[in-house]
Amino acid sequence: MTNSATEGSASGRPAFPHRSFWSDDYGTYSPGAPLSQSLTVDVAIIGAGFTGLSAAINLKELDASTSVVVLEQEAIGFGASGRNSGWVWPNLTTYRDIYAKQGLDVLRETYQYAQQAYGYVRDLTNSHSLDSEYRETGLLRPAVTGEYEPDMYEYMEFCEKLGRSQKVTELSENAVQKVVRSPLFSKGLWDEELALIHPVRHARSLADLARRLGSAVYEQSPVIDIREEENAVYLSTPSGSVKADRLIVATNGYTHLLPGVPGKALKCSQRPVIAYNTISRPLTNDEWDSVGWTKRNAVYSFGPASHFGNPTSDGRIHWCSDRFLGIPDGDDISREYHPNYNPTLKKQTPHFFPGLKDLTLTHHWGGPASVTYDHIFHLGALGNSKRIFTSVGCNGNGVSLTHLNGKILAELVAGRKSGLCDLWFVNHKVKTFPPTMITVPAMKFIIGRELKTARKRAVKAGLGFLTEEISGGEGA
Ligand SMILES: Cc1cc2nc3c(=O)[nH]c(=O)nc-3n(C[C@H](O)[C@H](O)[C@H](O)COP(=O)(O)OP(=O)(O)OC[C@H]3O[C@@H](n4cnc5c(N)ncnc54)[C@H](O)[C@@H]3O)c2cc1C
Repeated sequence: MTNSATEGSASGRPAFPHRSFWSDDYGTYSPGAPLSQSLTVDVAIIGAGFTGLSAAINLKELDASTSVVVLEQEAIGFGASGRNSGWVWPNLTTYRDIYAKQGLDVLRETYQYAQQAYGYVRDLTNSHSLDSEYRETGLLRPAVTGEYEPDMYEYMEFCEKLGRSQKVTELSENAVQKVVRSPLFSKGLWDEELALIHPVRHARSLADLARRLGSAVYEQSPVIDIREEENAVYLSTPSGSVKADRLIVATNGYTHLLPGVPGKALKCSQRPVIAYNTISRPLTNDEWDSVGWTKRNAVYSFGPASHFGNPTSDGRIHWCSDRFLGIPDGDDISREYHPNYNPTLKKQTPHFFPGLKDLTLTHHWGGPASVTYDHIFHLGALGNSKRIFTSVGCNGNGVSLTHLNGKILAELVAGRKSGLCDLWFVNHKVKTFPPTMITVPAMKFIIGRELKTARKRAVKAGLGFLTEEISGGEGA
């Protein structure tokens, strides 16, 4: 069995490069040599995820003469950008928070930005022929039995507020079954705005593009010190150093671990939450016949838990549950898998798809999503700094946002601002988290309470089996 969770070191921790199915599937990859010299550049970027790489590309597109270096502690796509589900979509889990706190206009502005980001990934991928396996599939949103149909209708109403009601169509139970066959699915919605990518291929194609445009990208080059002085920002790595006029910090869920920058503006700007994924072996033809799923679209249920997933381009299924979320106790985020995840999903999947009762799950992994205190993503200058810019807080919805965020960061750094830089969340004041000893128990309490409430309703509806997490298992 190839299981990212168990194949690694003696500690059971996933070993690089098997950080996700996508990195296994990419095949052999050797990260480039670390930075081993002293460089002076216009812009340094920490982090070779989608944000950092998009910023590098956009800086060069704005002005080819700008010298740009990207420093990555491990390998391109090592973070969330190489571990996500590959869903390119204009969804934000925090739309309702934004609406409640800031009203309809801000909500609509945010959705329009997310939609622009969705289109931006498509255009970037197509115009540069990126090797991303980009495919627009759409999204089926079925209600898990009649019990959860009211949730679906409530979401449809919310789509009107977002200004996207024309993007979703109601489907009868019969129509849902024609898209994906499941005894648990009743009515549903068809949402046209979703595309899939292969995250690691996409990240490495972005890096190739950044290099072709003239940026330098160094892997295995952790930044171990950051010093901002009057005339420049100084960075150190174990075997090199960089003097930069401007710095972009694109470290997402790792940002609290960054050394050097004083004060809590950066350290407490976000907290990592570990999100998990799983993937199966390729399905047999009989198994595919049993589920239908001929459009190979994504599925995201309204149910006691959000079960979601999609077929991969090599005929596996990626089927997950959002009932697992890891809240690291301290700053350490090395626990990137959950021993109970695959056994739970293995037990639940035949309820959705009886024809898949013999399915084995071959991979399981997790990665840090970055969450902010006010649940909003933030990008702009770090506090009062004129030289340091950052972006945090895309939660589990950053695949498309990060690309356009990178463009905004590039414009801010280059002083070449388009209308994007006037959006409400750019240079919006970041509310910092209280100390970890207060934040972590509070986050655990809030998430635990939500899970309990969801389980109570599921049990009442006879669907408790979708909210039971198995304990003590390892692997599939
Ligand atoms: C399991 C999972 C599933 C997800 N699924 C989806 C999805 O389907 N759709 C969606 O929209 N969003 C999804 N997300 C969220 C999305 O993946 C992220 O929002 C996005 O990839 C963040 O990109 P980034 O470039 O900002 O950060 P990252 O990709 O995390 O990149 C940060 C980089 O900084 C590097 N770094 C950190 N510290 C240092 C240092 N000191 N020196 C040098 N380098 C450093 C890290 O190694 C890392 O490569 C998911 C997230 C997770 C974890």
